[in-house]
Amino acid sequence: MATLDLKQINKSFGSAKVLHDIDLAIKDKEFVVFVGPSGCGKSTLLRIIAGLEELTTGQIIIDGQDVSRAHPVERGISMVFQSYALYPHLSVFENIAFPLRVQKVPADDLKLRVERAAGILQLMDKLHLKPGQLSGGQRQRVAIGRSIVRNPKVFLFDEPLSNLDAALRGDMRVELSQLHRELDATMVYVTHDQIEAMTMADRIVVLNGGRVEQFGAPMELYHHPATKFVASFIGQPNMNLIPATVQGVDAKGISVVMEGGTKLVLPVDGANVVKGDRVEVGIRPENVTLSDDGNIDISVRVLERLGGASITYGDIGANGTRFCAALPGDAQVREGERTKLTISPDDCHVFGADGNVLRRKNAPALVV
Ligand code: ADP
Ligand code: MG
Repeated sequence: MATLDLKQINKSFGSAKVLHDIDLAIKDKEFVVFVGPSGCGKSTLLRIIAGLEELTTGQIIIDGQDVSRAHPVERGISMVFQSYALYPHLSVFENIAFPLRVQKVPADDLKLRVERAAGILQLMDKLHLKPGQLSGGQRQRVAIGRSIVRNPKVFLFDEPLSNLDAALRGDMRVELSQLHRELDATMVYVTHDQIEAMTMADRIVVLNGGRVEQFGAPMELYHHPATKFVASFIGQPNMNLIPATVQGVDAKGISVVMEGGTKLVLPVDGANVVKGDRVEVGIRPENVTLSDDGNIDISVRVLERLGGASITYGDIGANGTRFCAALPGDAQVREGERTKLTISPDDCHVFGADGNVLRRKNAPALVV
């Protein structure tokens, strides 16, 4: 059992404030991912949870106990870093056993715990090797093994896959998800990679400039981003954002004219906008279809034929507003030509000048 509650966490380094009023309630056995661009405060927040960094104000509660001022080893947490720092002269067995040797755990118990961790991580036949004889992915698993043997209440991971090549990262994502299921433990995982966040998390915390933009299940963030930042951070290729001017507001929603001249009535709450306001209309590339009677028009600049999909990059309107459509693999489009595409008002997100979403009317039921 380990819940993790962060209450009003603030952190400053000298006069630079890097975390602002972080409030999060992480459930027992949950896999939560902190995601955000470099420098947004992910590692600092994780290090504060671990006790490696002092908080300026706020509280950290693990399993109902306030550990805000507790020494790292008293917190029952274990952290895996990007650079896995194994001891090159020690075997895999001894590297995994290291924290237990420090704790003077009896030899038979120690052997059982190392072998259990090695079994979970498929390292049983590697225990006699030195780290130098392992691949990058295997080394990272040894580092994870070293945290498993300590039976922590909460596992913390700081970009553990960043040093691995793309194919291996994909494999390790699957392994870490499996590991989470097998250990049934609370895990907090930091990454700048939205794909890692989407694929592994039960819930994602999107951080921006030391603030929580949104905390929710992956598909909740995908379908209902609360801010323009979340909308453009989650989803690949990125959501298109088209500048538009509000033409009118009524019970059905708002009518806008977008860059390029397309007029749409968008079913969103118009309480906070008036005629003449500038907004941005967000549409995901995968929600765009090719059709001769389409409602938008782009000039195709670059076409990426991936096989299953044709990622089509172009411009909309005369001001060079970028637009991307994820069309079927054999879509009849050509670089240098104009193409008509259709977007549906129901798929559009609208962001006000402050970057917050205008709530959708009749938002579709959420499937999580
Ligand atoms: P992330 O992990 O999201 O890339 P960090 O948590 O490492 O971001 O850093 C957040 C901000 O805090 C950055 O602006 C960084 O320069 C600053 N920072 C981190 N550690 C220190 C430190 N020890 N002293 C001063 N500033 C720091
Ligand atoms: Mg970091």
